[in-house]
Amino acid sequence: MTVLDDLIDALGPDAVLVGVAIGERHRSNASTTGRALPLAVVYPSSTQQVSRILAICDRHRQPIVPQGGLTGLAGGANAAGGEIALSLERLSGIEEIDADAGTMTVLAGTPLEIAQRAAEEAGLLLPIDLGARGSCQIGGNLSTNAGGIRVIRHGVTRDNVLGLEAVLADGTVLTSLNKMMKNNTGYDLRQFFIGSEGTLGIITRAVLRLRPLPAARLTALCALETYSDVVALLKFAQRELSGLSAFEAMWENYFRFNAEALRLTLFERATPFAVIVEQDVGGTAEDKDRFEAFLGKAVEDGIVTDALIAQSEKEARTFWSVREGHAMDQRLPGLVNLDISLPIGRLDDFARDCEAALRARFSNAHVSFFGHVGDSNLHVAVWIQNRGEHELHEIDTIAYDLVRKYNGSISAEHGIGTLKRDFLDHSRNEAELAVMRRIKRAVDPNGILNPGKVLPV
Ligand SMILES: Cc1cc2nc3c(=O)[nH]c(=O)nc-3n(C[C@H](O)[C@H](O)[C@H](O)COP(=O)(O)OP(=O)(O)OC[C@H]3O[C@@H](n4cnc5c(N)ncnc54)[C@H](O)[C@@H]3O)c2cc1C
Repeated sequence: MTVLDDLIDALGPDAVLVGVAIGERHRSNASTTGRALPLAVVYPSSTQQVSRILAICDRHRQPIVPQGGLTGLAGGANAAGGEIALSLERLSGIEEIDADAGTMTVLAGTPLEIAQRAAEEAGLLLPIDLGARGSCQIGGNLSTNAGGIRVIRHGVTRDNVLGLEAVLADGTVLTSLNKMMKNNTGYDLRQFFIGSEGTLGIITRAVLRLRPLPAARLTALCALETYSDVVALLKFAQRELSGLSAFEAMWENYFRFNAEALRLTLFERATPFAVIVEQDVGGTAEDKDRFEAFLGKAVEDGIVTDALIAQSEKEARTFWSVREGHAMDQRLPGLVNLDISLPIGRLDDFARDCEAALRARFSNAHVSFFGHVGDSNLHVAVWIQNRGEHELHEIDTIAYDLVRKYNGSISAEHGIGTLKRDFLDHSRNEAELAVMRRIKRAVDPNGILNPGKVLPV
């Protein structure tokens, strides 16, 4: 029997698609770097089925690639020709919301937005949030340890996971659906699976932390003259705004390009930096007064040159539309978006050095910067005309060599996948890489789980 015969036997023909029945979308994630269609796509609808699939693939030494919502940006969910994709989309649903424990137990294939809505209907907040919320899945969020726009308040995905269930390469089901904040009983196995991009196991369930739903959110857009002012405003906001829930900075190029593309004149003069500050509040009139007083003091102290407070949700969305930069993505097709991480105080030094280095090689490059500055995360947006694979590699090399010089991280949130795999040693030392390889060999001795991802070959 071939591996496909065994899989069809175990799951039934409806759950194993081959050949022309496979949808084109299984070719690549949102990085658009995937080329091949998988040999087959399997659609398990229970943990037991995931276990049977992996046991079969392990016996046949058949490589298998987990696919969530396919919104990943590092190539991690792309299958090479001859590999089988395991789609989590039929393993979807909220199993439980425990209001006393403040937890949600959810199947891995549940789209993030569905989970967020279920929490809200129960009067609670699921703090994991990112632009791809409509398509990405909880399992994908855990596997990439997704960041997003609320990290400054509630941490990265890892900080919001209390328990999980995962299936190992040989089909072993590891169930650890812990709901407690405190549990010091030996090794914390969930951490192996969070952020390992499907190379150590397939996540099938998770217990997520929920928080009280904020009654209201106050949003301001600030103009600032220098990066020192940006850092000063961050420190001031961290001290004064108890529910600080976002602090997003845009460097001049990025802010101007997106505001102009959206035909928005937000400030009277060009501003070297623009920052969105957001605070979760109880919704009283005093909250608004305190927020206004905070901004007033920032202007008085010369940290901020101008500030706009959103008077409605629509206005807040307008500020965010500049930051989300969809206009830039549309107008500059093939835009490269690097997500790096550096000590907060060095972000602007890096931005200057990086822009100079990129321009020295590509004189007409459009280079701009934005980031979740409160989380030490900088995004570098680079566009050059007629960019091919070779130029992409050059851009990566220029930027990541500089990241190494600054002792930063080549991936703040998108993960390693295949796109950053060969630069992993820029942020991890040989001893760390050796331990990663030993862990991989221990849990997946036949190397069937998402081969060629994360670890340099
Ligand atoms: C518009 C847009 C905005 C984005 N914003 C952000 C952002 O702010 N912050 C951020 O961090 N990322 C962001 N991303 C990247 C992406 O959305 C996240 O990485 C997301 O967590 C991926 O989830 P997914 O379900 O789409 O995973 P996929 O892309 O399907 O897979 C990602 C990786 O996880 C593995 N995987 C998927 N499901 C499982 C599973 N159940 N078990 C084991 N492995 C699995 C895959 O093999 C792959 O290696 C954005 C992407 C887009 C397109």
